[in-house]
Amino acid sequence: MGKKNHLPKQYHTKIWRAIYEFGLIEPDDRILVGLSGGKDSLFLTYALKIIQSYSAIPFTFEAATVDIGFSDLFDTARIEEQCASLGVGCHIIGTHIADIIEERREDENPCAVCSYFRRAALNRYASEHGFNKVALAHHQDDAMETFLMNILYSGRVYALPWKTYLSRTGITVIRPMMYLSEKDVVKGFKRTGLEVVEAFCPYSGNTTRAKVKQLILDLAKENRKVRPNLAAAMRDGDDVELWPPIVRHNRS
Ligand code: SF4
Repeated sequence: MGKKNHLPKQYHTKIWRAIYEFGLIEPDDRILVGLSGGKDSLFLTYALKIIQSYSAIPFTFEAATVDIGFSDLFDTARIEEQCASLGVGCHIIGTHIADIIEERREDENPCAVCSYFRRAALNRYASEHGFNKVALAHHQDDAMETFLMNILYSGRVYALPWKTYLSRTGITVIRPMMYLSEKDVVKGFKRTGLEVVEAFCPYSGNTTRAKVKQLILDLAKENRKVRPNLAAAMRDGDDVELWPPIVRHNRS
C-alpha cells in the first residue's frame, strides 16, 4: 500500500463499533470479502487491510469477485492487480448467472435472481475454500434502501442483518460498514488510490433500488430527519408497535 495508507479516525471508530457491537470479527477468522469491483467493496478491502494491520483480534482475509458472465469486457485482471497492490489475495469466480437471468427474465426480477445466485456462488466458494466468514460491503444507505424496498415491494419489515449464520454452508455473513454512510464511503474511496472496475450489466441504472434511492434522496432534501429516522426505524425496541397477525377463521 502506498502513501495514502491512512483513514481518518471516524472510519476506524465506525467500523470497530460494528465489529465489537455485533461480534463481526473473532480470533482466527478466515474472511472472504465479496469484491464486485465497485467503490464500496474496493473500499471495504482497503479498510480491512488497514484494520488488520493493527487489530488485537488476529484474522486473515482475501477477496473474491463473482463474474456474472454478461460481457467479456469485465476486466477481472484489473481487479486482481488492485488486490495485489494492497497485498490481498484475489479469487475470480466464473459463473453463468447471466444465462439464468435471461432465461427467467419474463417472470422474475432480474436483480433478485442475480443477487440470489451471486450470494450463493460466493458463499459456496468460501465454504469450499476454507473460509468461515464472508464480508459484504453494504453501507447505511444500502441498508435503508433495502428496508424501504422490503416494506414497499415485499410487504415485510426486514432490515439487512449485521451478521447471519448460514447453516447449509457453515458460513457467517458479516456487514462491517453499515455505520458508514454512502457519502463516507465515497470520500474514503478517494483516499485509496484504487480504480472502480465496471461490470457491464444491461439492467443497471434502471432498477427498483435506483428508484427507492432517488425517493429517499428527494425526501431527505425536504427534511433532514428522513435518513436518521429511517436508520432509527431499523432498530428493534420498545417503540416498535405493529398490528397483530391476521386471524384466520377455521370454517369447518
Ligand atoms: S443491475 Fe445487473 S448486476 Fe446489478 S443486481 Fe441487477 S442484474 Fe445483477
